[in-house]
Amino acid sequence: MRYIEPHAHMVSRVTDDYEHMALAGCEAVCEPAFWAGFDRSAVQGFYDYFSQLTEHEPKRAAKFGIKHFCWLCINSKEAEDVKLAEEVIALVPKFLNRPNVLGIGEIGLNKNSRNEMRVLEMQVELAARHQQLILVHTPHLEDKWKGTRLILDVLKNDKRIKPERVIIDHVEEHTVEMVLDAGLWAGMTLYPETKCTPARAIDILETYDRERLWLNSACDWGVSDPLAVPKTALEMKRRGHLESAVEKVIFQNPKKFLSQSGKFKLRED
Ligand SMILES: [Zn+2]
Repeated sequence: MRYIEPHAHMVSRVTDDYEHMALAGCEAVCEPAFWAGFDRSAVQGFYDYFSQLTEHEPKRAAKFGIKHFCWLCINSKEAEDVKLAEEVIALVPKFLNRPNVLGIGEIGLNKNSRNEMRVLEMQVELAARHQQLILVHTPHLEDKWKGTRLILDVLKNDKRIKPERVIIDHVEEHTVEMVLDAGLWAGMTLYPETKCTPARAIDILETYDRERLWLNSACDWGVSDPLAVPKTALEMKRRGHLESAVEKVIFQNPKKFLSQSGKFKLRED
């Protein structure tokens, strides 16, 4: 089995996680910029974080034969401080030409607040101006449907944004359809407790067109499982899905979407 982990926060994981992922067949990991679990106090904190994502983490992954890519932005969890967000957004272009940067992400909404909306619009503008792919985080709680709707409206309002170059992550049963209908890609996040369990994710795969769906673990500093993708692949096989169907969802689909960046290359490419 070979797979791509398209959403993982590896700076929060230990080296053993890389080894286990490599043994399970992971060929590439993609790391969206995220909240650190606490608010950073100044833009310099983001400078260091972006340096870590573009310089240090690829070397750590390479020791296990895994290619490391990343996405840059300020996450919606830190978007209430609009002045700080503006400073971070001004910093991002300095890093966009680095070889492992795939685009702008994970932007989106957390509480669907007015400031979050403002910062989301600024970052969609940033992506459009620099012709970058976009990875979007959707709220986890009861606001997911509303937040997803608001995000789709912001994206649709910018005519420069091509839907096939955007992935909306953390979709669930009640949001996947509106994302796919709008022509965007959708990601399902496999969490041990919240978000999608492997069983629910496979139910969704069996219900909707799989052309623009992928699976990720979104493992970070909280309760999460860096092996959620290969474990779900095993569950797919147990349910009788063909090898080719499994490979499509865990390898070919993410490869197809990410390759639109031009920088996404696997070791074999
Ligand atoms: Zn994430």
